[in-house]
Amino acid sequence: MDDAIRILLVEDLPTDAKLAQREISKDLKSCEFQVVETREGYLSALEKFQPDIIVSDYRLPQFDGLSALKLALERTPLTPLIMLTGSLNEDTAVSCMKAGASDYVIKEHIKRLGPAILRALEEKQVRIERQQAEMALRESEERFRSVYENATIGIYRTTPDGKILMANPAAVRMLGYESFDELAKQNLEDSRLQTVAQRVKIREELEKEGIAQGMEIVLYKKDGSPIYVRENARAIRDETGKIIYYDGTLEDITAAKLADERIRHEAARAATLLRIASRLNASLDLQESLIAICEETAKALDLPIVNIYLYNPEIDLFYPAMAVGMPEEEYRILPKFPPSVVENVNQNHSPVLIINASDIIKQLGITGIVERDYRSVIIGYIQVSDETIGVLWGASVSINREYSPDDVALLSGIADQAALAITNARLFTQQKQAEALYRTRSEELEALFTLSSRLREAQTPDEMIPILLNEMQRVVETDGGAVLLFDEESQKFTFTHATGNAAPEIGNSFPSHQGGSGRVLLSRQPFITPDYSKEPLRVETLRHITESGPMVIVPLQSENDFLGVFLASRLNKPDVKPVSENEIRLLSAMAEMAGNAIRRSRLFDDVQRHLRHTQALHDIQLTVASSFDLKVTLNVFLEHTLAQLEVDAAAVFMLDPHTLTLEFTAGRGFRTYNLSRTRSRLEEGYALRAALERKTICIPDLSQEAGDKVQSSFYVDEGFVSFFGVPFIAKGQVKGVLEVYSRTPLNPDNQWLAFLETLASQIAIAIDNLTLFKDLHSTNAQLTMAYDATIQGLSRALDLRDKETEGHTQRVADMTVRLARAFGMMNSELVHVRRGALLHDMGKMGIPDSILLKPGPLTEEEWAIMRLHPQYAYEMFSPIEYLRPALDIPYSHHEKWDGTGYPDGLKGDEIPLAARLFAVVDVWDALTSERPYRPAWSQEKALAYIREQAGKHFDPRAVEMFFSLLQLQDGIES
Ligand code: C2E
Ligand code: FE
Ligand code: FE
Repeated sequence: MDDAIRILLVEDLPTDAKLAQREISKDLKSCEFQVVETREGYLSALEKFQPDIIVSDYRLPQFDGLSALKLALERTPLTPLIMLTGSLNEDTAVSCMKAGASDYVIKEHIKRLGPAILRALEEKQVRIERQQAEMALRESEERFRSVYENATIGIYRTTPDGKILMANPAAVRMLGYESFDELAKQNLEDSRLQTVAQRVKIREELEKEGIAQGMEIVLYKKDGSPIYVRENARAIRDETGKIIYYDGTLEDITAAKLADERIRHEAARAATLLRIASRLNASLDLQESLIAICEETAKALDLPIVNIYLYNPEIDLFYPAMAVGMPEEEYRILPKFPPSVVENVNQNHSPVLIINASDIIKQLGITGIVERDYRSVIIGYIQVSDETIGVLWGASVSINREYSPDDVALLSGIADQAALAITNARLFTQQKQAEALYRTRSEELEALFTLSSRLREAQTPDEMIPILLNEMQRVVETDGGAVLLFDEESQKFTFTHATGNAAPEIGNSFPSHQGGSGRVLLSRQPFITPDYSKEPLRVETLRHITESGPMVIVPLQSENDFLGVFLASRLNKPDVKPVSENEIRLLSAMAEMAGNAIRRSRLFDDVQRHLRHTQALHDIQLTVASSFDLKVTLNVFLEHTLAQLEVDAAAVFMLDPHTLTLEFTAGRGFRTYNLSRTRSRLEEGYALRAALERKTICIPDLSQEAGDKVQSSFYVDEGFVSFFGVPFIAKGQVKGVLEVYSRTPLNPDNQWLAFLETLASQIAIAIDNLTLFKDLHSTNAQLTMAYDATIQGLSRALDLRDKETEGHTQRVADMTVRLARAFGMMNSELVHVRRGALLHDMGKMGIPDSILLKPGPLTEEEWAIMRLHPQYAYEMFSPIEYLRPALDIPYSHHEKWDGTGYPDGLKGDEIPLAARLFAVVDVWDALTSERPYRPAWSQEKALAYIREQAGKHFDPRAVEMFFSLLQLQDGIES
């Protein structure tokens, strides 16, 4: 049905309608009809039937043709309407045609209807097509217009002589004009829009080629600023070939161009920075880095003067550190300035500041700098994590200069690199210093360690001092060294040991108030002089040492015992080095160490001597007990006397109470054997005085005693220098005198005299024993008491050194004996337990003060030494026969029940019972006493600790018994 033509008939007479249909069908092959006669039917048909053409009766009973026409024009304007009229009426026809009917047909001429419809349809088709064409044209026009108006590309038409005929808004905008009209007033030949050269070039190109594509040109905007443009243009010619227009487009490529330029600049900046970075990387030296920074900044920014200021936190000022473009004398005298100036100047915290030089010079308050016409200054802040550590500034001289954003960025980049380089250089310097310090320190430590281990091999001060001198010479470069011992009695310093240029001074002495040594004695501080030969304090009587140059004298002391001084010197050579801080420190440390070692060896000597004495007494006792022959007893006795007192001869004289004469009984060490006969009154006099006055007579120098009298030939023959006479008294009666002689001057100390007297008392006992047949047992008991007194004295000495509360040893001894008794030990064993307890920490005699008295916890190395104290005790006492059974406690008191103790790591019952019991008591007493390394614990805390350690440190049974004992005695609640 598609191609069937739909025809709407508006007709009230069916016959007429039929007729019309018949006629129409003659001309139109396929058609469809609908007939309506009312307005409603007509409207509905227009809508639903959608006729291709309408044929309407002019006159209808309920409707009329003109109304139908009007409605049709309104609703479907393209649908033609043909009016059918009854009669020919010219007016009707005209009005119908005027009203818009396509045609009119008189019913009489109904045959015309078919052809009229065909024509009307044809006309309709033409109309439709025209309308479509118009619409297409309008649309395309609109599209062009929109493109023209809205394009971002500039579109123009100009004439070869430069007139602007057309320019779209984009072109107008691009060139910075308000409107086309304003732009149109310009002429392209005018150099305000573009250069003449460019215009000529474009014209030539278009003339020759007729087209120019992708030209990149520069145009100047209304405000004179340049824009970069890509232009496409075409020449339009008339029929004669003459160019009448240029049509073309403009594209603003300024942004891209600038971006391009920026990339190029940035690449250049990156290259500059890279070059600077590699130069800075090559050096870790601060000065070199600073030079590189200045030079590169000057080069990169083309600046005649560049200067770096660095912040020094110690003086809180920025100081001039480096410059190029001015001599060093000049930048060195540039003023320093405080950080507040930097902050003030840089209030906006930008990395770079550009400033007028006169402003900054005013602001920094710089005066008196070399006259120079500073102009534009650019300042970069050298910052490390927001702290300004320096200022990098450059200035133009004599000309004003504008700094581009690139310059600013470049300087800021250089400042960042400078920050890095300076930080690195400083770190490197610090590291080098730290390394150097570490090296010196470890060398010093090594020197001290070597000295300490070598000192340990030495037994006596005489052996130690050369070691000290030797080690000193090894570690500190010297030309001479000496030890000068101080003698309290004579108040003199004596060169006892010396090397190098000091060696000739050995044996020389001088009063203790003289020289650097005298100063050291007073101050107990090192004395240092850069040139001893010019030193006002030098001792003039010393001839060799006064040639010395740099010298240091350090005290040789231990705690408060001033032993002497220790001297190191260098000869005055042209390039002689002064004695450095480090060397002084090292020498002082060595001297202190040696001082301690000497003091310790003296202490140790005392102990050893005591022990030897005790052993001697023991031997004498054995002899006395086993021999009933007085002469044998006295010979054994005198042998010990010579050995222990280190004297040359000794004799025993018995006093005849009736004649008050002394009778020779026994002697040893004499060259002549006429003692019994050839005693002058003088010789006898001293001994007799001892007997009668009941006191020891000491004559250190026999020759002086003789005065102007002739010396006894006996003394001269024997070569005796010193004499000592001690009376021996038994049961209140003087029985005789023990005489002791020495062939070298003897200046004995109190200990020696005490032992001499003890020996004398032994003779009394022996004589008493023999003469009165005293009970052996009681003699034994007396002797034992004498030993034990010695032991107690020794242990007290240690208590004092250890700074323990007085009586610690006595207390633990008492407590241990009670505990041991509670465990059922017999009296004979308890004697050993008591001695062992008294001597338990005697091994600490061998531990240096620095460890024993250290106020804090011990290091691994110190512990290793501290743990040797049981072993030391063992070495000390094992040679003493009568102490051997007492060794369990000194040797094993630090063993622990669980096997974690020392020295042997014994476990449980392997640990001697006495040591197990003692451990509880020792720790209890140690904890409740103050120690150099910690304050005393409360009793509660100590008890809780001991209970907690049962089965770990302590034998649980020992702990249990210890608690019941405490409860029993002190009522302490456990
Ligand atoms: P000492 O001071 O006579 O202590 C004897 C024992 O009591 C110690 O043996 C330990 O078992 C116990 N003891 C003493 N104080 C404490 C304490 O504060 N806590 C605990 N848990 N136990 C304590 P040890 O540990 O074998 O030590 C032997 C010696 O080593 C000590 O004799 C002392 O002369 C020395 N020593 C120990 N620690 C230090 C320290 O930190 N600094 C110093 N300078 N010396 C120490
Ligand atoms: Fe101990
Ligand atoms: Fe102790």
